[in-house]
Amino acid sequence: MKSQEIRSKFLSFFEDKKHSIVPSAPMVLKDDPTLMFVNSGMAPFKEFFLGNAEPKNNRIADTQKCLRVSGKHNDLEEVGYDTYHHTLFEMLGNWSFGDYFKEEAIAWAWELLTGVFGIDKDILYVTVFEGSDDDGLPMDTEAFDFWKKHISEDRILKGNKKDNFWEMGDQGPCGPCSEIHVDIRSAEEKAKIDGKDLVNMDHPQVVEIWNLVFMQYNRKANGSLEPLPNKHIDTGMGFERLCMVLQGVQSNYDTDVFTPIIREIETITNKDYGKDEKADIAIRVISDHVRAVAFSIADGQLPSNTGAGYVIRRILRRAVRYGFTFLDKKEPFIYRLVDVLSEKMGKAFPELKSQKQLIQNVIKEEENSFLRTLEQGLILLNRIVDETKGDTVSGEKAFELYDTYGFPIDLTSLILGEKGYALDEEGFNSELQKQKDRSRAASEMSTDDWTILVEDSDQEFIGYDALEANVKITRYRKVTSKKEGDMYQLVFNLTPFYAEGGGQVGDKGYLEDTHGDVVYILDTKKENNVIIHFAKNLPKHLNETFKAVVDSKQRYRTECNHTATHLLHQALREVLGTHVEQKGSAVHSKYLRFDFSHFSKMTVEELRDVENFVNARIDGKLTLEEKRNIPMEQAISEGAMALFGEKYGDTVRAVRFGQSIELCGGTHVKNTSEIWHFKIVSEGAVAAGIRRIEAITNDAVKDFYHENNRAYFEMKDLLNNAKEPVKALQSLQEENVGLRKQIEALLKDKAKNIKGDLKSELTDVNGIQFLAKKVDLDAAGIKDVAFELGSQFDNLFLLLGAEQNGKALLSCYISKELVTNKELNAGQVVRELGKYIQGGGGGQPFFATAGGKNPNGIEEALKAAKEFVN
Ligand code: ATP
Ligand code: MG
Repeated sequence: MKSQEIRSKFLSFFEDKKHSIVPSAPMVLKDDPTLMFVNSGMAPFKEFFLGNAEPKNNRIADTQKCLRVSGKHNDLEEVGYDTYHHTLFEMLGNWSFGDYFKEEAIAWAWELLTGVFGIDKDILYVTVFEGSDDDGLPMDTEAFDFWKKHISEDRILKGNKKDNFWEMGDQGPCGPCSEIHVDIRSAEEKAKIDGKDLVNMDHPQVVEIWNLVFMQYNRKANGSLEPLPNKHIDTGMGFERLCMVLQGVQSNYDTDVFTPIIREIETITNKDYGKDEKADIAIRVISDHVRAVAFSIADGQLPSNTGAGYVIRRILRRAVRYGFTFLDKKEPFIYRLVDVLSEKMGKAFPELKSQKQLIQNVIKEEENSFLRTLEQGLILLNRIVDETKGDTVSGEKAFELYDTYGFPIDLTSLILGEKGYALDEEGFNSELQKQKDRSRAASEMSTDDWTILVEDSDQEFIGYDALEANVKITRYRKVTSKKEGDMYQLVFNLTPFYAEGGGQVGDKGYLEDTHGDVVYILDTKKENNVIIHFAKNLPKHLNETFKAVVDSKQRYRTECNHTATHLLHQALREVLGTHVEQKGSAVHSKYLRFDFSHFSKMTVEELRDVENFVNARIDGKLTLEEKRNIPMEQAISEGAMALFGEKYGDTVRAVRFGQSIELCGGTHVKNTSEIWHFKIVSEGAVAAGIRRIEAITNDAVKDFYHENNRAYFEMKDLLNNAKEPVKALQSLQEENVGLRKQIEALLKDKAKNIKGDLKSELTDVNGIQFLAKKVDLDAAGIKDVAFELGSQFDNLFLLLGAEQNGKALLSCYISKELVTNKELNAGQVVRELGKYIQGGGGGQPFFATAGGKNPNGIEEALKAAKEFVN
């Protein structure tokens, strides 16, 4: 059965059981502070499990793109070495939100696997939770009894808390789970060892394919459990593993999900998969990682130096490294796999097709730059080896190479091995640990339980229409971090505060009670669909009604920038073409930033056209037309541009100014004329094929012009109030060029004179032409003189000192003959004499220079020079 068919059979099975089938949510999370990537099918539905929102249908099924490369689930180091863990994989899942529970979940899983897919029940095992004394939980006999109806009792295994109790995080919904495992070994193998003994033992052919989670508890901050009022089902089945079983192969990489990519790698690298274990690992790594990277870029997450972008960059670099080391590929090639990938998966995930060009460009650029890093690293590593005494390279040096230059440590140790050197791994690990401790200490955070003041889960956002409201605090909690100390997070029954999202910053403002006590709101963020207000202090009278007031000035400036961002987007598509797509934006009160796909630097004319386009719409006084809570399909059919894939169940808000229509939850001006004026301040590249514009509006534009104007008048003043300052400046510049030429000629003359003087002052010390003297020359002049004199003698020792702008300079020249025969070394001379001028330096054995901050020491240094030739 082809993978396409497997996917659609799963979905239609649950559709028949009254589930709504929804598309995969984007894998890259934009507005969740607790998670960078979706790492399981349930992540996009967290708000439903937490009771912060209600799904339209309490039965849902889908296939979800998941990435397990950071945080709680990190499979990265396994990938390539085993045959059933991926970075990016699809998780097939069915959900019940307070609807059906264990009985149906178990019965349907069984029906699908054995009935619809026809898997032989004799290769299946299931597990149930054995209970836990720590948590005071008994065995999950309910699940056990339901399983007994389908499978013989000796195939139901008991599992401990680690494998059979699922938790969302340190806090929150959790519960026992039942896993389904397959044993796809040959009959002979099975005769040797019973499959039962291999379940959950990391055997590549006895693997878990499906996990059914029964959410029935809530874990509190103090670690205790309380029952959940509504019980939920959350299941996740690895799509690639299911394909392996149904296609009768022994590895995920032998399914049709991967074979087309692997064939392409074979063609490009001229290697055969299945011949050599090391090359095989590399091929698996690359075929896996290209998927992860391509999907993230399609989701709007580009490789970068921080956060989620850095995770993606590391995945791609891991792939490059394996290609470089084991497949001998020293030039970019991974980007060439994107063609097959988008051809094979473009149907299920259309974003791979529509963004193909961009994905290829970005990957190629990343490959190029990392290959350069590797090249440079190799040079540095050779130098380290040259400087190493003995046969062990210091861990500190290797760490520096890794940390500062991004050179991978396993490559370091591989290369050292080839050269017959060992790596001081302990030293390296201890440096690494030190660094980890430093960053952990900086980011450590603890979160208390919520204190509930009023039971109210329907928080209302009124900030589109109001900047002030009377509110009640419904719950609050304390969070403590090294960086910010104690902070309080407050939730209101209703709020005018806009929470950071869609690129727009969160509102600031204050809360005031009837006694006049004020608490400042420093930021507003959304977590699992709840708007959270951040304050340094807890209000005194928590149960009172507060006046909540948004900082209207900041909000207004931010709104100007947000509306201008929409107009800018429209302008770019108009001026540059419809290939322009938004790739990211940041809307602050002081400025806006907009990233978009486009392949070349914008010309001055294009920038001007874009500015004019936006300003024309500001002058056109376009009014805001918004439609709140309309179904996504309606918004799209009315011409709205969908930016990043929206989640299922989202009713959306369409924001329109003239011909600009966007899906947007942000806040906007009521009329474009409020923006006053739009000005681009910079345009540049952020990655291959991605440009960034920074721009300002309103007050910031006024400040900008004031500042420019002030600078202009200051300049004019300096030019003696010239009528035409530009002309005046030009003639000054011309004059300057002439003067510089004259000075150069004079300096040359001076050097010639000095050279003559110096030559006559040379004295013979033990057969060496010696002179140590202070001269009135700059560093370049000294060098000239020294080299000229040097060319006339083969036994010269020259030490010249000079004072330049209050700093001291010592240069030493020693004829090459003396360097060889008398073991003199100019580098050593200036290093030693450098102490007199409180400085240091170096250079070559025949010429070296030191700089220092004490010109008074020059004379002493000159005196001491004689020591070297005596
Ligand atoms: P394993 O023990 O094999 O790592 P898990 O316990 O981490 O699996 P769950 O978190 O329960 O897995 O995820 C549900 C299902 O998703 C698993 O049964 C498996 O089929 C699949 N799965 C989990 N991790 C991966 C991965 N890295 N690559 C491919 N499939 C995976
Ligand atoms: Mg796992």
